[in-house]
Amino acid sequence: MLAPPAAGKGTQSARICKLYHIPHISTGDLLRDVCREDTDMGRMIKKQMEIGSLIDDEIMIHLLKERLNKTDCQNGYILDGFPRNKMQAQLYEEMLHDLHKKIDLVILLDLDYETAKNRITGRMLCPNCKHVFNFKIDALKPKVEGVCDICQSKLMKRSDDNEKVFDHRYETYQNETEPLIFYYQDKYPFYKVDSTKSVDVVFMQIKQILERNMI
Ligand code: AMP
Repeated sequence: MLAPPAAGKGTQSARICKLYHIPHISTGDLLRDVCREDTDMGRMIKKQMEIGSLIDDEIMIHLLKERLNKTDCQNGYILDGFPRNKMQAQLYEEMLHDLHKKIDLVILLDLDYETAKNRITGRMLCPNCKHVFNFKIDALKPKVEGVCDICQSKLMKRSDDNEKVFDHRYETYQNETEPLIFYYQDKYPFYKVDSTKSVDVVFMQIKQILERNMI
């Protein structure tokens, strides 16, 4: 799943995974777990994420390899937030070759800068179950303000979800990640979904794409 920040890749990935009973692997979530550890690596990653810069490719590959080796990935998974640049895309293909896996399809959630920036200020995250809420989007509001619907943990705001860091994240997306559209679109089944639509409409479209490809 490729997308600029706040396009809904976390929300849509979680829905697809629930429907198809496959794991949702968000590299952002993997990193946020490392940040919570009191280690030099955790502190270094936290600093980078807070300014909206990408984490080193080698660290990303190591974290992802560890996750993909878990047994729950045997029947497929949704990858959210990876790859973020061409080097990661190439290293990922090598990794998949070794694991005897392949990319089934690539979905681009397309969203313009203004809409993305507006969404980011309403976003809240459950630090426990990772569910994403947004008090600016009706379908994503928690039932009780500030509390996770799923596990009742206190919701938190991501430290990189502010307007200043957002600009850097969006720019990084345009410079590093967007070129992957050209890398992927002729290589694998590739679909672009308009993410300005409501959460339910976007989900319906993704579902239709998956059904059409009989995944
Ligand atoms: P996300 O949760 O996907 O919005 O990612 C949040 C932040 O985590 C990004 O701004 C990066 O700092 C870092 N990050 C997530 N995935 C990657 C990746 N594949 N490569 C490098 N950095 C990443």
